[in-house]
Amino acid sequence: MIQPAFSDPVLRSGLRVAQANLPTRYGTFTAMVFEEVASGCQETALVMGDINDGRPVLARLHSECLTGDVLGSLRCDCGPQLAAALGAIAAEGRGVLLYLRQEGRGIGLYHKLQAYALQEQGLDTVEANERLGFPADLRDYRLAARILHLLGVRGIRLLTNNPKKLHSLESAGIEVVGRVPLLIPPNAENLFYLRTKQEKMGHLFGDGHLDDHPLDDLDDGGGPPADRRRET
Ligand SMILES: [Zn+2]
Repeated sequence: MIQPAFSDPVLRSGLRVAQANLPTRYGTFTAMVFEEVASGCQETALVMGDINDGRPVLARLHSECLTGDVLGSLRCDCGPQLAAALGAIAAEGRGVLLYLRQEGRGIGLYHKLQAYALQEQGLDTVEANERLGFPADLRDYRLAARILHLLGVRGIRLLTNNPKKLHSLESAGIEVVGRVPLLIPPNAENLFYLRTKQEKMGHLFGDGHLDDHPLDDLDDGGGPPADRRRET
């Protein structure tokens, strides 16, 4: 069993934790649910190996995406990123994945579907959030950083394409010693979305990763209108 940096199940920090082994298709993790007692907010950590020995830990902070993670949506790359992250941690035999309940970059499932509807009218993912009155990204990693501290993690190698996530964690006191890309081949449904994340949100996909798939060669399956897509 993991021995976090506490002994009492109800923590002085206002979090309590339940944990059990979780065998998965990737390997066996220790699943831990941290509940913030005051709010009832729950976050899940999947831990493999010894992560509080002082060495940097391979880590993924994955924000919940019901449509991508569970339902197999092709509108984003969340599901394959989740699978690739768990696979990478299992391959190293050591690491942690935090599954964070901030659906739709923090706007929630209802508003995410509203944003999808706006994207079907031609807005991109950033414009759609803003049309609904939200910033492009509402996610907050402070509770995730607290959980990493409780797990004894001090330095991480972060599985992400999002450089802003590195800065958010560092400002919350987690040392990010490196970034490990999570590059998923794009599909016809998510290429415009991924390019928007690259161009407007600074996501790093590496040279050519999104360029090798000319839009005209891809199936038209309900993405942004064709005139809009050719602009990119
Ligand atoms: Zn998603």
